[in-house]
Amino acid sequence: MARRRQGYGGETKIMKYKKVIFDLDSTLSSIEGIDELGKLRNMGERIKSLTRQAMSGRMPFGRVFIRRLELIRPTRSELLTIGELYKNSVTPGAPELINWLRRRGANVFVVTAGYTDCSYLLTDYLEIPRQNVFANRLIFDAGGQFIGVDQRIPLWHGGGKRQVVSKIMAAHPGKTICVGDGIGDWEAAKVADGFIYFGGVAYRPEVAAKADIVIKERNLLTLRRYL
Ligand SMILES: [Mg+2]
Repeated sequence: MARRRQGYGGETKIMKYKKVIFDLDSTLSSIEGIDELGKLRNMGERIKSLTRQAMSGRMPFGRVFIRRLELIRPTRSELLTIGELYKNSVTPGAPELINWLRRRGANVFVVTAGYTDCSYLLTDYLEIPRQNVFANRLIFDAGGQFIGVDQRIPLWHGGGKRQVVSKIMAAHPGKTICVGDGIGDWEAAKVADGFIYFGGVAYRPEVAAKADIVIKERNLLTLRRYL
């Protein structure tokens, strides 16, 4: 069931979007990459609880982001493992929806607080050009061991997604809608023309309450009627 709320002018139904900006974790893929990394290190519950607090807005995102990385210190090869998991857990309907958008001439973007090394495995599979994929870059030494995060990319902190969405809006003309499941996705969508809350993987009532369109079905193709 999809529920429509007033907001963003209430004219969502007649809009045809030129750009659709997707979140990745729990949206295009049915997993949270960072939680899976936590499981690899046997600290699944600890990481998951931090993620939940960030996604629902109970703890500042930047603090959670750095804390999780300090705890896990993922290697490059672990990121590739997560990338494979992203692919194997692609959300039902995601490839079909993206093909449909492409045929319609819409520009598809991904803005994620995940990491490039794993995100590209999924976005390449979905044939989304890499210049349309915005993610955090982790820095590794020659042996693939974790050194740190490239903080020049704003996506590691709370307002980061919003900054990136603003840049996309400025560089590409046309109406834009964001699709995601986290509080950061909703925040970012304030600078766009609409926000679809995708609750098909992880339903977060705090975020759903703020969205003008709420999707509860697990299949992303459901979104077509709003795009
Ligand atoms: Mg997400």
